[in-house]
Amino acid sequence: MRHENVSKKIVRKCGVELQCIRKYRMKWLPILCCITLAASCVVTPPRSSLHGQSGAISGSESTGAERRILTGWGGGNAGDVVSRAAEVGFKELVVHHDNATNFTHFIELGKQYGIGIYAWLYLGDIPAWKKAYPNTTPPLQMMNDNEEEALKRIKADKTPGKSGYQFGGEPVNEVEVLETPLLCFHDPRVIEVFKKQIDEMLAFPGVKGVAFDYIGYQNYRCCRCPISQMQLETYQKQHPELSRETVLERFSFETLVDFNNCLSRYARAVKSDAKVITHVYPVYLPEPLYGNHLDLDVCGQTAAWFFAPFWSVEKIKAYSSIIAREAKRYHARQNGAALIGYYNAPDKYRVKSKERLVAELKAILDGGCLRVHVCSFNDVLKTTDAAEVFCNFFGKSDRQSTKKE
Ligand SMILES: [Zn+2]
Repeated sequence: MRHENVSKKIVRKCGVELQCIRKYRMKWLPILCCITLAASCVVTPPRSSLHGQSGAISGSESTGAERRILTGWGGGNAGDVVSRAAEVGFKELVVHHDNATNFTHFIELGKQYGIGIYAWLYLGDIPAWKKAYPNTTPPLQMMNDNEEEALKRIKADKTPGKSGYQFGGEPVNEVEVLETPLLCFHDPRVIEVFKKQIDEMLAFPGVKGVAFDYIGYQNYRCCRCPISQMQLETYQKQHPELSRETVLERFSFETLVDFNNCLSRYARAVKSDAKVITHVYPVYLPEPLYGNHLDLDVCGQTAAWFFAPFWSVEKIKAYSSIIAREAKRYHARQNGAALIGYYNAPDKYRVKSKERLVAELKAILDGGCLRVHVCSFNDVLKTTDAAEVFCNFFGKSDRQSTKKE
């Protein structure tokens, strides 16, 4: 069942059976192998010393533990997961709102256990498009021939681990693209789809806010559909001094940021106390850690990706330091969060060991990130070792249920 769950998530990533996996929403973050960025960044000193321990770090230590916030992305049945998530130390969960009864139950149980519940919004949500525009073909992002060729190759690869494919994370191979089709947000109708979704999401009493996902480009750089190309031409005319290459990059980046910020602003207009969080994914290759440009409450950026080759602890710490230190550079409201990927599907992927998880979480905290996002929380809850590790970092020291009576 565990494998089935993970498999479904993977499948969703692959863009197949997209509508069949509503129960378990996942998230994969990525970051491009920004060797230059990682190598050049200045790592701040650890804000808390976690040394000399085997990973069992008590929540009562003076390590800022009381200020740590663990957020989980996933799904499942509220009655099965909320109380267990509370025991592990989750303070926030991100789940889909499509099953109104289950989502309401999440909110109710979340209130009892002190867990804030976010509704999951993702750019590949074709059903959301069809709901808003029932008789109109969804405007999907388009790629060039080389990228389409890569997509075919990735889809055809059925070997375990898919030859190092990173599913939207920083690529290991020369050309990678996301298997999941994404809507083109340059089409003005697309933002209307998600505004309607935000209306729906924030109409649930007690919901904490909205969580963005998959807001990016399928080829990790730009969209090549006719609408995007037309807008690109206009942008070029407005900036005749810039090269074609620079125009494409600037246009793609600015519109990506604007789309996020427009939706974030809309959510606050609908409900003034709604929180907006995101997971920057798929990777945006020209600037993997661009998340601080987003005007929202918490920006989760990948610090430790899901798949082998696992990131070095040096890279994890360096990314976490940037995520924490640079979060408020452009927007005062923003807080940075480090995303750690965790799946348990040993038949498909190398599973992170307990020691590996401890090392990754220590590196994140040493980098200064007290907010940690993990996907999927379902895999953490189902794996005793993983649950124990997260509990040691984020749970209450007495390990008692946090249910509020
Ligand atoms: Zn497009």
